[in-house]
Amino acid sequence: MSINIAILGSTGSVGRKALSVIEALGPEYSVAAISAHTNAELLAEQARRYRPKLVAITNPDYYGALREFAGSLDARLLSGPESLVQIAESEEVDIVLTAVVGAAGLSAVLAAANKGKHLAIANKEPFVIAGRLLMEAAKENGSKVLPVDSEHSAIFQAMQAGTLDEVGKIVLTASGGPFRGASAEDIKNVTLEQALSHPVWDMGPKITVDSATMVNKALEVIEARWLFDMPVEKIEVLIHPESIVHSLVEFVDGSVIAQLGRPDMCLPIQYALTYPARVRGIARGLELDKIGRLTFEKPDFETFRALSLGYEAARVGGTSAVVFNAANEAAVAEFLEGRIRFTNIVELIEHCLNKHKSKADVTLDELLEADAWARREVAECLNQKIF
Ligand code: NDP
Ligand code: MG
Repeated sequence: MSINIAILGSTGSVGRKALSVIEALGPEYSVAAISAHTNAELLAEQARRYRPKLVAITNPDYYGALREFAGSLDARLLSGPESLVQIAESEEVDIVLTAVVGAAGLSAVLAAANKGKHLAIANKEPFVIAGRLLMEAAKENGSKVLPVDSEHSAIFQAMQAGTLDEVGKIVLTASGGPFRGASAEDIKNVTLEQALSHPVWDMGPKITVDSATMVNKALEVIEARWLFDMPVEKIEVLIHPESIVHSLVEFVDGSVIAQLGRPDMCLPIQYALTYPARVRGIARGLELDKIGRLTFEKPDFETFRALSLGYEAARVGGTSAVVFNAANEAAVAEFLEGRIRFTNIVELIEHCLNKHKSKADVTLDELLEADAWARREVAECLNQKIF
């Protein structure tokens, strides 16, 4: 009997890599379900190759196209955002790998946790929105939550050298993105093309922009806070342009355990699927002699204000992180459409955080309300041409 994996967002950067990883793992693992938002053609092609039982297109406008491309394919075709929940709850699925982008993956992740499913999480935004609820649901229902994000996979691996009580701090590394070393003045007029040219990682457009603003690292601080039940004060960020040391854990005795690997998502994806086993896969080892030097520097909190705002949102807790995330998602979508400037993204996040009164101990509905409010606020700012 093979282990059945659902890949939510199979047509994206992480999703496509996950399919190759699963293929290389051999018959012990099979693809049970896949999803895309609009790319019906690639989704149908993946369905023909990997033979999943469930194939979902979350944007219903593309259901007709999926039916056409799928032809006589032997799979159940699903449509609409709720199809991700259907997949997450399906008896046909053992592991849910979430690789959709943004808040869209939230209900499916919570549904999988409530069903006690093994979760492999690349999609960090639901963690930022509802980390506490997600981890509580997972604990209550015996759901294993494994990180796919490379930094968190590294921390997860390094943590195995001690107990939670023995951790002094965790250090998330960051490549620094395309604008590392730039001043606040330098980044004022950067173009979309420049923001999309990441020096090391090849990723989807939203996370690539998030890396350029360093919002991505801020989201990762919040992700780590919930995933490892770690106070924000014990989470640091260190710039490491080579992206070989994926993150580090410092224990109370001063010992620092790091995880190293190529800047390639195959390894963290595979480990989240095969944990606790380590098996041969498509990821290659390191040739440190060829890399030669590994460098580290402190982040520039002034130029990359997003990092300070993210820390502040994480400290305040409650609905602040939701607002940080939703304002960013809305602003990045505007930037990708060419409607605002690069620096407006972080200005909009700051505007929303300043205007928002954070609420503590919130329900899921209150979190979703805060999310919707921040998106409306960004739209309103643009309508009134405040930015
Ligand atoms: P991509 O943009 O490459 O892919 C996103 C996937 O989600 C696609 O399958 C896309 O479908 C689907 N999708 C887009 N919008 C929606 C929606 N509204 N509802 C449901 N599905 C949707 O993103 P990445 O693979 O780069 O990133 C995915 C997630 O993983 C993000 O949360 C990111 O932060 C995280 N991550 C990514 C890393 C990377 O190396 N790329 C590293 C670490 C974390 P379609 O193709 O049809 O548009
Ligand atoms: Mg990461």
